[in-house]
Amino acid sequence: MRQPILAANWKMSLGRPDEAVTFVRRIRHPLDETFGADRVLCPPFTALAAVAEALAATSIRTGAQNMHWEKGGAHTGEIAPGMLARLCRFVIVGHSERRATGSALETDRAVNLKVRAALAHGLTPIVCVGESLAQRENGETHAFVGGQVTSAFSGLSPGEASRCVIAYEPVWAIGTGRAATPVEANRTIALSLRGALAESFGESVAQAVRVQYGGSVTVDNIAGFMEMPEIDGALVGGASLKPDFVELVRRAVRAAGRPH
Ligand code: PEP
Repeated sequence: MRQPILAANWKMSLGRPDEAVTFVRRIRHPLDETFGADRVLCPPFTALAAVAEALAATSIRTGAQNMHWEKGGAHTGEIAPGMLARLCRFVIVGHSERRATGSALETDRAVNLKVRAALAHGLTPIVCVGESLAQRENGETHAFVGGQVTSAFSGLSPGEASRCVIAYEPVWAIGTGRAATPVEANRTIALSLRGALAESFGESVAQAVRVQYGGSVTVDNIAGFMEMPEIDGALVGGASLKPDFVELVRRAVRAAGRPH
């Protein structure tokens, strides 16, 4: 039985500590009491310490939106894993909005280094994978996202692999209001994501890793995703910036009340 996990990706919103904490105070109590799923808020770096402090006495966790893999050194503007370890438990790695920059810090190899560094520092990586619209239309989804998983998990032990979370986020569904259908997402996760994990680590690891769906998740469509046997949660962008994110999480927990 995989514990569901709902994560809020605030992107470049609520970056001022005062506005972030004001929002957190609005949702903190009901979100804290929504048991049955891990709940993770991922603010911008500038608000991470304030949000972590506001959530300290709760069951809600914090996450960062990115990090560098190096422990330190001459990397102007970057954040090292050790800097995050006291502030948060989770870190989003390889989000498609970052991969799309084409930066050397966002290649498949870089994502793998970040995953390894996160695990080495006791952080749980939320590893984002997903195909573009062109890849989808060309029938390349399976090979592409399977390859992203294989590469991101390269060199991990089975135990380390099991600790990771994957967010399957079709690029064409992020921020577009055009979500994948639950059945479609479920199939890709089963065949391409868990399939790639099974090839590298065996079936028990493939069944242990928690996989979220991401891409235009809302309070109205979350239940459909959570009813799917392969989907263990969601990475939520736009809809996580509204107080009814609490209702979204409640509906997720309710819908997930099925045997995995
Ligand atoms: C995301 O930020 O990863 C995301 C899926 O955004 P949205 O929910 O707005 O599509």
